[in-house]
Amino acid sequence: MNDSIKYVLDETRLPRAWYNLQADLPRPLPPVLHPGTHQPVGPDDLAPLFPLELILQEVSTEREIPIPEPVRDVYRQWRPAPLYRARRLERALQTPARIYYKYEGVSPAGSHKPNTAVAQAFYNQQAGVKRLVTETGAGQWGSSLAFAGALFGLDVQVFMVRVSYDQKPYRRALMETYGARCTPSPSSETNAGRTILAKRADHPGSLGIAISEAVEVAAQRDDTKYALGSVLNHVLLHQTVIGQEAMAQMEMADDYPDVIVGCTGGGSNFAGIVFPYLGAQLRGGRKVGIVAIEPAACPSLTRGRYAYDFGDTGHLTPLTKMHTLGSTFTPPGFHAGGLRYHGMAPLVSHLKELGLIDARAYHQSQVFEAGVLFARAEGIVPAPEANHAVKGAIDEALRCKEEGVSRAILFNLCGHGHFDMQAYIDYFGGKLADLDYDEAELAMALAGLPSVPEPA
Ligand SMILES: *Cc1c(COP(=O)(O)O)cnc(C)c1O
Repeated sequence: MNDSIKYVLDETRLPRAWYNLQADLPRPLPPVLHPGTHQPVGPDDLAPLFPLELILQEVSTEREIPIPEPVRDVYRQWRPAPLYRARRLERALQTPARIYYKYEGVSPAGSHKPNTAVAQAFYNQQAGVKRLVTETGAGQWGSSLAFAGALFGLDVQVFMVRVSYDQKPYRRALMETYGARCTPSPSSETNAGRTILAKRADHPGSLGIAISEAVEVAAQRDDTKYALGSVLNHVLLHQTVIGQEAMAQMEMADDYPDVIVGCTGGGSNFAGIVFPYLGAQLRGGRKVGIVAIEPAACPSLTRGRYAYDFGDTGHLTPLTKMHTLGSTFTPPGFHAGGLRYHGMAPLVSHLKELGLIDARAYHQSQVFEAGVLFARAEGIVPAPEANHAVKGAIDEALRCKEEGVSRAILFNLCGHGHFDMQAYIDYFGGKLADLDYDEAELAMALAGLPSVPEPA
């Protein structure tokens, strides 16, 4: 076995195509439905929001979709991202497991999100779009799209969930540094926002509301499109550079993962590291165990219902079949802002239904405990979201120790926590409560799911 701890690919090994899992699914995804007619949506329905190339990627069943050269050019600034063997963490845990992590915090915005932001900005620019509108929770996605917009000459407006806007000024400053305009949501700039504000002037906002505002603005103007940082098929597709690189790096390490762990908010970084391996398995290759980790306070995969639902609170989006807590569900405030979404990517939800992946939920204090242990062993301070994956990987490693077996565990360290140090301060101050969602609110949100007849 190779003894190094860092596996670096040179830039000639940057993937030339994204990997599309839809080519290898044993059963196809349920269609996306029009909320009025309940008929499958076509490209025309989505054209006000997305450029054609991205709509085609959304429904494509081609296994490989070439990465345009201008996108690869930008990727080369930080990709291929490093893969590490966590030998010091293994020693700290006294585990026989072999722990590897792929580190996506090396991008300019500090997470995996630029992998799709750059691609989306490119296709929009090619289609003659001048302005992109989006939402952001903690600010990771907003800053990634702001970065990508700056590179491709697009104006970017970001509706940022009000509580984060007030509590996380540094992410907002990063967006503004890249030239984007950041608007706290709910805002008085949209009907969706004004409706909410009329009911409650100091509403803290939610991702679902911010999505409604961004979609509303994008739909109004021909030169303006919408961009989403997770959930959709094309977003997950763009993230597959992560897993493809990891496969080449694991080969350098002369190893193959027995278990892959990722955190899931909308499912994109998880898909990025998992799908290339899962595709190989579905084509007859080696079987891998796959675990999605989500917050106990917003547990769409472990507690949500698999049903057709809206992607936003204002019900402007089409209906997708996914694990959902209900589009009106507002999770309690916790620090992993990137994991506070009511739904899960349709592709990841579908895999859960097919029994191809497992899911577990953790509370935030245990997750931060794992993150601090990781930082002290490996030196990298993970984003609060990434701490979920760290915790999942550590639990797998401890299971190896109990069982006295050595398994290879690969996890995605999807971002660094340099903008999230307040969360660490709160953790060290004993102020990080293990919030539970409100059962009555969940029941109400689920009762409000749209009723969609099951296709025969
Ligand atoms: C946005 C974000 C997430 C959650 O989104 P996914 O689509 O589930 O990956 C997780 N980690 C980080 C660092 C993020 O910025």
